Amino acid sequence: MLLPIVQFGHPILRKMSVDINNDYEGLSKLIDDMYETMYKADGIGIAAPQIGKNIRLFVIDATPCVEDYPEVKDFKKIFINAHIIERSDETVQTSEGCLSLPGISEDVRRSKKIRIQYLDEKFQPHDEVIEGYCAVVVQHEYDHLDGKVFIDHLGALKKRLLKGKLNAISCGKVPTKFRTVLP
Ligand code: ZN
Repeated sequence: MLLPIVQFGHPILRKMSVDINNDYEGLSKLIDDMYETMYKADGIGIAAPQIGKNIRLFVIDATPCVEDYPEVKDFKKIFINAHIIERSDETVQTSEGCLSLPGISEDVRRSKKIRIQYLDEKFQPHDEVIEGYCAVVVQHEYDHLDGKVFIDHLGALKKRLLKGKLNAISCGKVPTKFRTVLP
């Protein structure tokens, strides 16, 4: 089932998300719906707050970017109750976009390498080091769980220049190929 995607300016995107238990009702259907929604919108990741739920869940399938970033080959994963416990000082700068901020793409600098603990869809624990573009995508989705969006990483001037576009998104004036939830 396709879910509407929460757009920039909505308070749900600014809330801290909470861990869930393995008896969370309808979890596997929710994961399926998030993937379906993400694929339909041509996204490579989507976090639960973007579909209106403040829980620590995001899904990624970055495999369409394999030509630009060979490390994303097979990088399709579900992250439940994720917590990043280490971030490298070394950074990379990549152009990012977001389904909650359609039409905007900006260069963002993030850690090149992270260590993350999370549960998979069977609630099996993982403790992994993730690098390169995979780490960028994970950090982007992870930010959503902490009430952040990628433009928060930009400088004041860049943010000011985006003001008009952001207002247009919040007012529903930016056309999208998916249904949206406006603030
Ligand atoms: Zn996003």
